[in-house]
Amino acid sequence: MGIKREFAIIKMLQEILPPPSDRVALGIGDDAAVLETPSGNEVFSTDVLVEDVHFKKSAHPPFLLGIKAVSAGVSDIRAMGGIPSYGLLTLALPGQVEDNYLEKLGQGIAWGCRHYGLQVIGGDTTGSPGPIFINLMVWGYGQDIITRSETVVGDLIWVTGTLGDARAGLDWIQGAETQEISSVERLFREEKPDHFLAPEPARLALKHFSPVIDPELGSLLAGAVNAMVDISDGLSDDLGHICQQSRAGALIYRDRIPISPELKRWAKHSGEDPQEIALKGGEDYELLFCAAPAKEQEIRKILDGRGVRGTIIGEIKPRDYGRKIARGTEIEELKPGGWDHFAR
Ligand code: ADP
Ligand code: MG
Repeated sequence: MGIKREFAIIKMLQEILPPPSDRVALGIGDDAAVLETPSGNEVFSTDVLVEDVHFKKSAHPPFLLGIKAVSAGVSDIRAMGGIPSYGLLTLALPGQVEDNYLEKLGQGIAWGCRHYGLQVIGGDTTGSPGPIFINLMVWGYGQDIITRSETVVGDLIWVTGTLGDARAGLDWIQGAETQEISSVERLFREEKPDHFLAPEPARLALKHFSPVIDPELGSLLAGAVNAMVDISDGLSDDLGHICQQSRAGALIYRDRIPISPELKRWAKHSGEDPQEIALKGGEDYELLFCAAPAKEQEIRKILDGRGVRGTIIGEIKPRDYGRKIARGTEIEELKPGGWDHFAR
């Protein structure tokens, strides 16, 4: 199957579910759904973390897992240009989960809620015969809604932050001792989370354990950009979503993909290509957006104002150009290759 199974299932459901009404400005297919209401646009999204698919219970500190659950939910709302406001929290738990574990998980969720200004106003709690499920549905508001489908030829392709760190962090965690991992939790800074103040490679591990994002950045950028997506599946797949839904092609310059010094050193140590990790690695929760070249100064001002790094990594091309990546003067096909949750 060339296409990931997850995408095939969503497509199948989209075809067989009854079509939405006119009030639904955007249904299945973007980072979040959008309802038009008399008071403005409401944005809805839901995200689930499943034990042994998204996290290992013995390796992922529950406080950091709680933060991650909230960040993942908030990320899809901000990728639409929305601001998160309310949440519904659903937990499915096997009987043997310790109270202490759940309390720490709850404290992490509470930290995320305070950090993002999100109010959890309900949910559901039930047993699970196997893995832990943590599901957060997030509801927010948006003025200018930014979809995946409205980029045009000539737009520049931007990404925030650095890419691939979360994936390298996961690789480090898989080979690390329990002791090393538990020390990572103590490095999390509650006051001003800046993972890159921690020693390496714990910085990379924190990017996997507890990504923390700026919830307002999407809405601030919304007036200046044509299309936006959060990088949860990996750069090549998430750019693929924009190209597919905007009926466009793209050219990425491999050397311009922003790589942290920590990832560079990690890749040297593991013998991997850091750009390859960045292209395929998911869960960075950075933003990828496309905007007209004339908007560059305006965008830089917004990003500088929030202390966020922004990098132009390529440009949007006509659909029949396809999706390509330039390595020096050589141009190759950009292959899909994100994280496949069904592949394990
Ligand atoms: P993201 O990676 O941004 O969270 P997904 O790849 O999970 O997005 O989902 C893509 C789109 O498909 C979203 O619009 C989402 O709401 C929709 N979707 C995913 N799973 C289902 C499902 N089981 N039923 C209906 N819609 C779904
Ligand atoms: Mg998304």
